[in-house]
Amino acid sequence: MQRFETAKDAALALRPDVPVYCFRPDVLVADARQFMDAFPGETAYAVKTNGEPMVLEALAKAGVKTFDVASPGEFEAVRAVAPDAEMLYMHPIKAQSDIRLALERYGIRVMSLDHEDEIAKILRIVRALDLDPGSITIFVRLQTKGHAAYELSKKFGAAPAHAVELLQRCHKIGFKVGLCFHVGSQIEDPETYERALASADWVRNRADVPLAGLDVGGGFPAEYGHDPRRKKRDMPGLDEIMSRLRADMTEWDFSDLPLVAEPGRVVVARAFSLIVRVLLRKGRRLYINDGIWASLSDSWTGKITLPARFIPDPARTSRNGNPDTISAFRVCGATCDSVDILSRPFWLPETVDTGDWIEIGHIGAYSLSLRTRFNGFYPDTFVEVETPFDAGERAEGFASLETMAD
Ligand SMILES: *Cc1c(COP(=O)(O)O)cnc(C)c1O
Repeated sequence: MQRFETAKDAALALRPDVPVYCFRPDVLVADARQFMDAFPGETAYAVKTNGEPMVLEALAKAGVKTFDVASPGEFEAVRAVAPDAEMLYMHPIKAQSDIRLALERYGIRVMSLDHEDEIAKILRIVRALDLDPGSITIFVRLQTKGHAAYELSKKFGAAPAHAVELLQRCHKIGFKVGLCFHVGSQIEDPETYERALASADWVRNRADVPLAGLDVGGGFPAEYGHDPRRKKRDMPGLDEIMSRLRADMTEWDFSDLPLVAEPGRVVVARAFSLIVRVLLRKGRRLYINDGIWASLSDSWTGKITLPARFIPDPARTSRNGNPDTISAFRVCGATCDSVDILSRPFWLPETVDTGDWIEIGHIGAYSLSLRTRFNGFYPDTFVEVETPFDAGERAEGFASLETMAD
């Protein structure tokens, strides 16, 4: 992989017409370690966020020993780079053949579920393989309510009274049992975890069975850009969210249990930026070479304002507008699909034009893992970059973000 000091250096040296992912392994390692240092339990990286071998390898080297997986493809991806890592199979609804593969071939011994029929599926395979249920830990997934850019509680999770029954039933079979929840991705309210913990406490007291662990899932927010015309929403950083979570876990009496977290976004977001090219400017619209069917679907569905840095093409000799005026540009994606328009604008200098590049920052989560080949576009070019996106020259999408100044 070619290495550059900054993404701008890469753009000017390569003059790429295809999107280029800028990987920052040092940032990934630092963010993973920051999470592991702050969380008082096991950190299980959620592979679906970004399952590239370069990411899993860097995380394994950084000391991540546990991975949250959901499919045979993810079992294999983890096994390939970290043969000794433990895998937690935390998808509550699994194919019978995948359960067998997990137990038999991959030696997975931790799973989650939110329904009695899933218990029956797992038990069938456990009996067929003549495994001791006591060697397996079943996490009952609890429904949660809260505010996140992505609400996953509508899809998965047992209501509290149902979770009580599931815990008791699994315990009676002889499985070890735990409780888990996942509050959704990019939480917007720091109270979210406390509400989930209160609910977990209610379930634990009613179930009255010994608990082997508590898994608080993911959801920890990454930092993105914001609309400079509006007041920035007051969202605490990871340090503060984590210290509240630690205090809440103590207050609700969970801190003596083995704890697990499954962070994805907060670990990997800063580790990548993406260089895209402006294929055409039409008024206040920019047509770029990436879009919602490639690296940018997460920002589209999550209505996330992405931080963007302007990389002007030095070969362009004339420009219109004031380079110090930052304006909103509507961003149209590469495909011929009419929905391929981002839900939030990029904030860039007025002078941006056809042929320029834009570095989109903090794009490591749910970007390349969600790429499609739709319309024949599939970004797959990588370089390594040393300088973190939020260091060095100001990013325009961060124009009014105070933390950029210091
Ligand atoms: C997606 C997912 C995660 C990771 O969520 P982030 O918001 O990226 O931290 C963790 N646990 C489960 C069960 C998930 O589905």
